[in-house]
Amino acid sequence: MTRSNASTVSPLRPTGVDPISVLDSPDKIKGLVCRECHREYPAQPIYVCEHCFGPLEVQYRYGDIQTHISREKIAAGPHNLWRYIDLLPVSPRTLVNLQAGCSPMIAATHLGRKLGLKNLFLKNDAINPTHSFKDRVVSCAASKALEFGFTTLSCASTGNLANATAAAAAKAGLQCVIFIPDNLEPGKIIGTIIYGAHLIKVKGNYDDVNRLCSEIAGKYRWAFVNVNLRPYYAEGSKTLGYETVEQLGWSYPDHVVVPVASGSLLTKIYKGFTEFHKIGLMDKAPHTRFSAAQASGCNPVVHAITQNHDYITPVKPITIAKSLAIGNPADGFYAKEVVKQTGGAGAEASDTEIVAAIELLAETEGIFTETAGGVTIAALKKLCAEGQISKNDLTVAYITGVGYKTQEAVAHIGTRAYSCAANLKAFEELNIVK
Ligand SMILES: *Cc1c(COP(=O)(O)O)cnc(C)c1O
Ligand SMILES: [Zn+2]
Repeated sequence: MTRSNASTVSPLRPTGVDPISVLDSPDKIKGLVCRECHREYPAQPIYVCEHCFGPLEVQYRYGDIQTHISREKIAAGPHNLWRYIDLLPVSPRTLVNLQAGCSPMIAATHLGRKLGLKNLFLKNDAINPTHSFKDRVVSCAASKALEFGFTTLSCASTGNLANATAAAAAKAGLQCVIFIPDNLEPGKIIGTIIYGAHLIKVKGNYDDVNRLCSEIAGKYRWAFVNVNLRPYYAEGSKTLGYETVEQLGWSYPDHVVVPVASGSLLTKIYKGFTEFHKIGLMDKAPHTRFSAAQASGCNPVVHAITQNHDYITPVKPITIAKSLAIGNPADGFYAKEVVKQTGGAGAEASDTEIVAAIELLAETEGIFTETAGGVTIAALKKLCAEGQISKNDLTVAYITGVGYKTQEAVAHIGTRAYSCAANLKAFEELNIVK
């Protein structure tokens, strides 16, 4: 992949993964480790430390991976996220392959000019099998579910994860049970049930749904992609980081703007950048500044950043950006730490600003994003106005979901359509062609 034209990658390249030439799970994973007390655990479907209740994270054998990987090998790999399989915690023998990943990196010249940025790029991750970046994380989690021998795939979702999990379960031949808050958009509900999943609308917000799922996961032997498989699931987001570096011609951007729900995506893009340095694919450590984007109606991470608080104070979400509506974000603290360490910032967007940003992106770059993308573009605009991002900074903003799923947010523009009788005279009387 190249920065100027991602489509130069031949579509005829093999899309599968050769199981002989890539590392299997035990060859690359040491196990899990607690992010707080650093106690080690075997690579099982577990997610919290028994001693301190800290979150568990996959630990890799970077030395072995380093001898096995190269830029050339990655470039010769399939045109999807499995080109990075040596850095993902899954076996090549049990891949659930919907061919997620390798989404376009677009030079956003028109939007850049409007915002005063000379080097603005958009990573359009709405181009994925179920039209959000969640296909990346679910690809890892569903593959791991097969490797562990689970027969039911499940999740607690703010919408996009429901779609991705249901599609992956269908492809993997697993039973699927999905839990969502009962206020989600029809597009996300239909886009789940269509794959044959059992969809449970829970009375409450995402944080209520998540609590219920932790209880269910403790009782039933199901693979909850973002509960008991969370350490493996979260690793899928690293591929957005890998692709960013590869598509920018093996260089790091100066600034990235990332939408934040649980905070996992932001931390994993950072992890992807640093791993490329750790295993010698990049000479230097990243200099990239990481900025977080949230809705004003659900801003626990951005609030902690702008107020310089050390801890995240949970909020009750009220926002049209439902896919980002997590009031008590599991990785919020770690996301805030990455922003702080890298010298980034936080920016939030009101519902009105979200809608305006969706329209701005569509009219300037031809990309129709969902409300989360509106949050990202509105935040990008504020960060530029505040001088957090400067004119020449090579900036990447992550567009993580598609507008067709949240059409109700922009339904008002339907009134801009013209009505016309089926004859030339009536059309010309509209007087819209200059
Ligand atoms: C889930 C989601 C995010 C954020 O993901 P986290 O890893 O939970 O922070 C961003 N954008 C969209 C569209 C999402 O669905
Ligand atoms: Zn611990």
